[in-house]
Amino acid sequence: MPLAFYGVNAHFAQRTDAPLGAPEPLRAFLVETIHSARGPLAISSVLGVLINFSAYAMVGDRLFFFVQVLANVVVGLGRMRRLTIWQARRRRGLTDRDVVECDRGFLVWSAMLALLLGITCRHLISYAAAPGPLALAVSLCTGFAISFATGSAGRPFTMAAQIAGLTGPLIYGFLTLPIPLGGVWAALIVGLVCAALLVGRFTRQRIVALYRANEENRRLAETDILTGLMNRYAMAQVFARALERAALRPQERLAVYLVDLDRFKQINDTLGHAAGDAVIVETGARLRAAAGMAEGADIARMGGDEFMLVARLAEGEVEALAQRLIETLRGPFSFEGAAATMTGSVGVAVYSENCRDAAELMKCADRALYEAKRAGRGRFRLFDRELAARIAEDGELEIALEEALEHDQLEVWYQPIHDLRRGHVEGYEALVRWRHPRLGLVMPDRFVPLAEQNGAIHRLGEIVLAKACREAARWPSAYTVAVNLSPRQFLRPCALVAAIKRELDQSGLDPARLYLEITENFLIDDNDDTRSAIRAIREMGARFSLDDFGRGYSSLAYIQKYPFSKIKIDREFVRNIPADPVSSAIVASVCLLARRIGMSVVAEGVETDMQRRALCELGVDLAQGYFFGRPAPAPAGLPVFAEKRASG
Ligand code: C2E
Ligand code: CA
Ligand code: CA
Repeated sequence: MPLAFYGVNAHFAQRTDAPLGAPEPLRAFLVETIHSARGPLAISSVLGVLINFSAYAMVGDRLFFFVQVLANVVVGLGRMRRLTIWQARRRRGLTDRDVVECDRGFLVWSAMLALLLGITCRHLISYAAAPGPLALAVSLCTGFAISFATGSAGRPFTMAAQIAGLTGPLIYGFLTLPIPLGGVWAALIVGLVCAALLVGRFTRQRIVALYRANEENRRLAETDILTGLMNRYAMAQVFARALERAALRPQERLAVYLVDLDRFKQINDTLGHAAGDAVIVETGARLRAAAGMAEGADIARMGGDEFMLVARLAEGEVEALAQRLIETLRGPFSFEGAAATMTGSVGVAVYSENCRDAAELMKCADRALYEAKRAGRGRFRLFDRELAARIAEDGELEIALEEALEHDQLEVWYQPIHDLRRGHVEGYEALVRWRHPRLGLVMPDRFVPLAEQNGAIHRLGEIVLAKACREAARWPSAYTVAVNLSPRQFLRPCALVAAIKRELDQSGLDPARLYLEITENFLIDDNDDTRSAIRAIREMGARFSLDDFGRGYSSLAYIQKYPFSKIKIDREFVRNIPADPVSSAIVASVCLLARRIGMSVVAEGVETDMQRRALCELGVDLAQGYFFGRPAPAPAGLPVFAEKRASG
C-alpha cells in the first residue's frame, strides 16, 4: 500500500519540501484514489442506465425512465469531463487551487449521480403493491450506499453528499407513501446510512495516518541528514522534472551547478571530522542563501563536500549566480574558535539543443568543475563551446599521445637553475616536450593532465626520468638535474621506486645529483605506501623539492613533515616582487624557516634583474626563470663528457 503513494506523489509539480500534512497534497491524493480512472466512472453510468431500463421493464412508465436514462447519460458525461480536466492539470502540475476546484466538481457530479439513483428508487417504491420493485429499490439503495461509503472513504463531504442524494428520496418515499411498514424501512435505511458513515470515517483516519507516515518516510529518504538539503536521490527526481519543463520553455535557461569545496580533506585531517561536518553544514546554508536569490533554484548535497544546484534563469543570470556561489564560500569558516579559509570551485552546464539529457548535463558540469579546479580553484567554469571543442581535441590528443610514447616523440628540455650567491648554474630542471608530427611542439600543460587522467603518466614519467638521467650523467658532476613527478605516479609506488633505481643504475648518475619535484597536491592525499616510497627513494640518495610552493595551500607544516631538500617558490609570488611588501615578507620568512631546517629555496619565474636582486636580498639561494635562460633541448654552454656520451 505505501508504495502506491509514491506513484501519486510523483505527479506533483510542487517542491519536495511541501509542509508535511498540508491539506492540499493529501486532498489531491484522496481525489486521485477514486477519480483517476475512467473505468469505474463509465461502469457506474452504464449501470445507472441499465437499472432504469430494468425498472421500466418491471413497472412501465416510459416517460419517467426515459428522462432518467437521459439524465444518467448527461451526468456520466459531466463526470468524464471533470476527470479530463483533472488529468490535464495534473500533467501540467497541480496547484492547491486546482485540487480544491476539481474536488468540488467531483463532489457535485457524484452527488448528482447518487440523486438520480435515489429518485429511481423512490419512484420504484411508489408501486408499493408489487414486491419486485420494492426489493429492487432497497437492494439498489443498499448496494450503492456501501459502494459510496467505501469509494469515497476519506472524503467525508463527497460521501455524505452521495449517500444523502441516494437515500434521501427513498426515506422520504417510505415516510410519505402508503407502504406497509414504511417507517421500519425508513429507520433501517437511516441505520444503514449511519453505519456507512462510520465505516467511512474510520477508513479516512487510517488513510490519513498512512499518508502522513509515508510522507515522513519520503521526506527522510529524500533529505541529507547533515545539511537538511535534498540528497542525491531527491535531486535526481527534481532534475528529471526540471528537464521535462525545460523542454517546454525554451526562453528559460536551465543551469546545473556542481559545487565542490577545495581542499576539504585538509579541514578533516587538521581540525577533525566534527569541524569537517560544521563546514559542510555551513556550506549548505551559504549556498542555500546565495541560491535563494535565484528563482526556482533547487539545491542538494550529493555526498562528501559536493553540492548540486539546478536553477531556471534568464539569459545572463547564469554566470552571475556562479559568481555568487564562489563568493559566498570565500568567507572564513570558524569552528570552536579555530578559523579556516575555504574556497569552492563550481562547474556549470546549461540545458541546450545539444545537451538535453540528465547524464549529459551532469557530465558537462563535472567536466567544467574539473577545469575550474585545474585553473587554480576558487573559481567557476562554464561548459561552453570552447570547452566542448577542447574536449574533442583532448580525445584526439589522447590517442596521439599513445603513438608519441611508442614512437619516441617526447623530448626533454632543460632550464638552468641559478645559484644566486655564487653566480653560476647549479643544475637544470628537466621539462618534457612533445614533438607532434602535425601540431609541432606541444607544451606539457596541454598533455600532462591528459596523461594523468588516462594513466599514461606512468610511462611518460619513466621516459622523462630515463632521458634526464642519461643526459645528466654526461654533464660535469657538479650539475644537478631536477625531474618533475606527478602525484599520480605515487599511485604505483613500487613501480616508481623500481624505475628510479633502474634509471640511476643504468645511467650511472650519482643519486645525489637527482632532485625529484613534487607539488603540494601530492601531500594532501598521501598515505603509508607513498610515505614508504619516499623513504626508499631518499635511501637511494635522491632528493626531493617541493614544487610550486605558494600556488595552493602552502602549509609550512608539510615542509617540516617531509624530507624536502628544496622549496620552489611559485612564480605567482615572484611576479609581485619587489613591488608587493606582503609577497616579499612571505618569501623572506620561508627563507628563514628553510635555512633553519637545512633546506634551500628556489625562486621560479625570475624574469628581470630587479627581481633577481630583490630575491637575493630576501635570502633566496637559487633562482630559475627566463632571466637566466629558457628551457632548451640541451643545456646551453655546458661541457659534455664525450666518453660518458658513448656509454650513455
Ligand atoms: P613547473 O614544474 O612549475 O615548471 C616550470 C614552468 O615554468 C615551465 O613550463 C617553464 O617553462 C616555465 N617557466 C620557467 N621560467 C619562466 C619564467 O621566467 N616566466 C614564465 N612565465 N614561465 C617560466 P613548462 O615547461 O611549460 O612546464 C609546465 C609544467 O608542466 C611544469 O611546471 C610541470 O608542472 C609540468 N611538467 C613539465 N615537465 C614535466 C614532466 O616531465 N613530468 C611531469 N609530471 N610534469 C611536467
Ligand atoms: Ca617543476
Ligand atoms: Ca614549479
